[in-house]
Amino acid sequence: MGKATGFLEYARKENPYREAKERLADYGELHTAQLAEERACQASRCMNCGVPFCQSSFGCPLHNLIPEWNDLLWRGLEQEALARLLQTAPFPEFTGRVCPALCEKACNLADDGVTNRDNELYLIEKGFEQGWIRPRRPAEQTGKKVAVVGSGPSGLAAADLLNRLGHQVTVIERADRPGGLLTYGIPNMKLPKTVVERRIRLMEAEGVSFRLNTEADPEALADYDAVILCGGSRKPRSLNLEHMDAEGVRFAVDFLTETTKQLLAGEAGAGAKGKHVLVIGGGDTGNDCVGTVLRQGCASVTQLEMMPAPPESRLPGNPWPEWPRTLRTDYGQLEAQAVQGQDPRIYETTVKEILTDDENRMTGAVTVRLHRTPEGKMEPVPGSEQTLPCELMLIAAGFVGCEEKTLQRFGLSADGRGRLMPGDLSHHLDGKLFSAGDMRGGQSLVVRALADGRAAAEEVHRFLQGNSPKTL
Ligand SMILES: Cc1cc2nc3c(=O)[nH]c(=O)nc-3n(C[C@H](O)[C@H](O)[C@H](O)COP(=O)(O)OP(=O)(O)OC[C@H]3O[C@@H](n4cnc5c(N)ncnc54)[C@H](O)[C@@H]3O)c2cc1C
Ligand code: SF4
Repeated sequence: MGKATGFLEYARKENPYREAKERLADYGELHTAQLAEERACQASRCMNCGVPFCQSSFGCPLHNLIPEWNDLLWRGLEQEALARLLQTAPFPEFTGRVCPALCEKACNLADDGVTNRDNELYLIEKGFEQGWIRPRRPAEQTGKKVAVVGSGPSGLAAADLLNRLGHQVTVIERADRPGGLLTYGIPNMKLPKTVVERRIRLMEAEGVSFRLNTEADPEALADYDAVILCGGSRKPRSLNLEHMDAEGVRFAVDFLTETTKQLLAGEAGAGAKGKHVLVIGGGDTGNDCVGTVLRQGCASVTQLEMMPAPPESRLPGNPWPEWPRTLRTDYGQLEAQAVQGQDPRIYETTVKEILTDDENRMTGAVTVRLHRTPEGKMEPVPGSEQTLPCELMLIAAGFVGCEEKTLQRFGLSADGRGRLMPGDLSHHLDGKLFSAGDMRGGQSLVVRALADGRAAAEEVHRFLQGNSPKTL
């Protein structure tokens, strides 16, 4: 283990973000640079527990060998620590930046859990900096061809593993850049697009081909030995209101994508400049919208959440080591506090009416308070309506499943939660169709998409080997 008394001697210390007011001036990375001594010290807090909950299914979906690489990091064996991390984690530079770090909440140190995410990010960035990360081409080719549809984290993870196993992999992506929501979704300040591009270049150097601006066509895929659908859960949940077609009413991912495209083209996004913005949805995507519109110079931003505010601490029924469903204040909300003097979130409130002018441009919104009925439904409180000025409303209310057009093209169907119907796949493309990520499991997290992509790659590998024992 790290240092026998490390967890007693040192307090948990996360790598801080840049100051809110400073970082609001740009779209650059939130994190400050990491210090080697600080990370080694934090790694020394890991107790190499007999039952390491961090590695369990409550903790890390990738089952990262966390106590092992924390120990190596503490001992100063950084290259060895990175090698141990890479045994299970395909892209630590993504998870080290965007993962909510379920492992830290499942850690036996509970609220003072080891800073695994920061440690992971330190190791991988050190690896790139020192040239320890180099293209690794497979020693042998199997001669089998695999198509991966969609280049989000699940598609990339599947492509990466299949390529390492010697198959010839082509990733087919409809967008003009690979990465899925890593590129067009998660904002640059949380995950710089240069980081995604660096990984894509590495995968290309290792032999993976990317075909961009291409809609997957089942007929064109007939020549492949296996196809994995990784199209994501891309259908946004809408609001059942009039004037949803008004100028200024937008889905969050469309707006975030537009901002990233502008940034990549060297332009400063200004879609929210001078506007009063309403963000519908109190979750992570809503938080990304808050951070983005503040950078664009909005006049104000308010975030509405239908549900009551979560408790400050765990309630019975949500015991450790489960992920705590408690109130968290993310970077965008902290930035709003710095600019507006208060948290932008208003709970138990929704939009009742969209107000427009003669040219169908949004001018305001009527909001209404909600209360929970004894049956558990959220219902409007009569007389609680309020009118807010609003020229831009961003809907960040989650996703309801995979897109119909992809389902139709492949002759597939979805279950009641918009996920690919289990068992449906084997009846298509001569039984060589597989799936992974949000498309298969519903809207989730990058780390789950990575784990799922790797699991699908293992399944495809077994299929291509004629169900022989896997040689991973
Ligand atoms: C704004 C936002 C912020 C988020 N932030 C975080 C975060 O901080 N941490 C975290 O863990 N999770 C976060 N998530 C969730 C996470 O991004 C997703 O769970 C994850 O990206 C899902 O990966 P995926 O590979 O299944 O699909 P996606 O990332 O959705 O990728 C699917 C890809 O398939 C392509 N595609 C779809 N259909 C076709 C077709 N027919 N032909 C060709 N290509 C096609 C799409 O263009 C897309 O590139 C966030 C989600 C959003 C929306
Ligand atoms: S549970 Fe925490 S302290 Fe124990 S091995 Fe995992 S990270 Fe280390």
